[in-house]
Amino acid sequence: MAKLRLKYYPEQVLLQKAKKVTTFDSSVRKLANDMLETMYEENGVGLAAPQVGVSKRIMVIDVSGEDEANEPIVFINPQIIEKEGSLVGLEGCLSFPNVFFEVRRFNRIVVKYQNLSGKDVKMVAEGDLLCRAIQHEIDHLDGELFINKAVSPITADLELVKNGFIAGDVEALEQELAKSGQGGATIKIQDKDKTPVVG
Ligand code: ZN
Repeated sequence: MAKLRLKYYPEQVLLQKAKKVTTFDSSVRKLANDMLETMYEENGVGLAAPQVGVSKRIMVIDVSGEDEANEPIVFINPQIIEKEGSLVGLEGCLSFPNVFFEVRRFNRIVVKYQNLSGKDVKMVAEGDLLCRAIQHEIDHLDGELFINKAVSPITADLELVKNGFIAGDVEALEQELAKSGQGGATIKIQDKDKTPVVG
């Protein structure tokens, strides 16, 4: 296994729709293993191939706790076939180090994907980190980023400006935020420390 180099916003590969995987050979297995190693080293719970510069519909997730055995899942060509409800929570992304804000996701999804052997698998995820991570990573495969799904777009902008991803005026944004009533929006450092980086 080898650790891969992460791509950070606004690299072009993060904004493209990734291509379907049609052959299930050793190169796909190697990519998935390298992605898992990269994800573990970066302390993420998920990683999509475009985040390591590969525009293919492959993503990996492991939501096991720090003291638990690893439970890696490799999703190839994943598709959400059922979705319902609403799940709001803090989210981070390995392509945006140190940026966290609240994102709205579906609360229950059914996802269909292929495993490394090309076999069809169906999975239900509800109300948890796995449910959130699957949606975050599938978005990466479609070239969509969490910055466009913030509960409070002003808070997201503020986080992006503070961490140098976009240009802007922190003070002006803070004033705008206070006026907007996009509430509770300042994220405390201790919340950030507790929030898993979805990937
Ligand atoms: Zn991400």
